[in-house]
Amino acid sequence: MTIEEVIKKTVENCSDADTNLIKLAYDFAEEAHRGQKRKSGENYIQHSLQTAYGLAQMKADCASIVAGLLHDVPEDTKYTLKDIEKDFGKEISQLVKGITKLGKIKYRGIERYRESLKKMILAMAQDIRVIIIKVSDRLHNLKTLEFLPPEKQKRIAQESLEIYAPIAGLLGIERLKWQMEDICFKYLYPEKYNKLEYKYEVEKKVERQRYIQRVKGILKKRLKEEKNINFSIESRMKHLYSIYRKMQLKDRPFNEIYDVFALRVVTDNISDCYKILGLIHDIWKPKPGHFKDYISVPKPNGYRSLHTTVFGPDGKATEFQIRTKKMDDEAKFGIAAHWHYKTKGFENKKEQPKWIQEILELQRGSKDANDFIKKIKLDVFQNRIFVFSPKGDVFELPEKSTPIDFAYAVHTDIGNKASIAIVNEKMSTLDHKLKNGDLVEIRIDKNRKGPNHNWIKFVRSKKAREKIKQNSQKIGIRKFLPKI
Ligand code: MN
Repeated sequence: MTIEEVIKKTVENCSDADTNLIKLAYDFAEEAHRGQKRKSGENYIQHSLQTAYGLAQMKADCASIVAGLLHDVPEDTKYTLKDIEKDFGKEISQLVKGITKLGKIKYRGIERYRESLKKMILAMAQDIRVIIIKVSDRLHNLKTLEFLPPEKQKRIAQESLEIYAPIAGLLGIERLKWQMEDICFKYLYPEKYNKLEYKYEVEKKVERQRYIQRVKGILKKRLKEEKNINFSIESRMKHLYSIYRKMQLKDRPFNEIYDVFALRVVTDNISDCYKILGLIHDIWKPKPGHFKDYISVPKPNGYRSLHTTVFGPDGKATEFQIRTKKMDDEAKFGIAAHWHYKTKGFENKKEQPKWIQEILELQRGSKDANDFIKKIKLDVFQNRIFVFSPKGDVFELPEKSTPIDFAYAVHTDIGNKASIAIVNEKMSTLDHKLKNGDLVEIRIDKNRKGPNHNWIKFVRSKKAREKIKQNSQKIGIRKFLPKI
């Protein structure tokens, strides 16, 4: 991979000035990482380039691509965030900072994952680009997993399957999600993966290809009779992990699931989508209950397409997706998310956190991804901040919260015995006003009997206020409490 290849991918999105900045970032990163090798033996800069290339593919903006090139500089080289800020400005150094912090979030058990997933998305959605960069970074790490020791492979695969793949799904970057899932599947369940891969890729491959060709031939001939319809037909690969999941969920045998053939027709405009649908239903009999019009009624995440399943040649169930080029791009790379439909736990609408509703509302009313991000920053995350524990857990607090609020959010005992606060690796006062994304550590004094009642003057969270009140009463200093 070269920087020229990355730049070539960005032409649609980037101005000349942008391109120059990308080149500068490359030179900076290349110099910073020079001499460093990946476990694969490649020069480290290859990882930075691959991350940036992934971003360019997703049509990310110039700042994201620059941050993608620089993302491992502060962690792994002699250069600091300050150096990046000096050369590339505040926006980019903030992005790199966000990615560095996100690196500290780890998968820690199935019970907690959903919650930390939610919080992570919330925290990062203040600049959604951070997640997108992180996901691109993670994908390249997964692609080079073979060079790591088996134990590490399993841990990274598990973490990616539980955290990063769902996030890619939430962001609507389906292509990336599937790629990640298949790699994780391979490392976590090698036997099952190999068995499925053999069946799908080897045993039935020729049969499948022949069948798809046949369907394509018939449809092409018919579409060509209609003048003025531009179209392309592609066969869709079923992803191994999704086959595996379906087999598990529906308890159906392999053949029944993977013998469904899948094609996608991409055309110029909406009226042609419906024309093509009509022609397909004219050639083959539609399977009842399988037609979905997500063009006139898009999914809440913005997904648009026509779906139908027909009894194709030899009566075999054949799925079609029909959509315009724009819809196709959005579905593959877009931020248009597949929120609760895809993510277990959000399936029940009543369980949906309010922020999802808010985000969905914003998304529906947004012109494009940039507009959406701007609005998200302004509307959804205004009065809350998100701070990190050293272990990478995320805590949601009211604006202007202090280390004491954080301490009580972690645990009442930590709050009651808090004695020293360390914010972003620097000593800080206990009434310090925390900011979004701060990393907070609390040292406790074990001998301490209870909280300092003066804390009540500066804490912001309900929990901290209540606990301070309760515990001050217990140790008999009630009379000193200010009236609130
Ligand atoms: Mn990296």
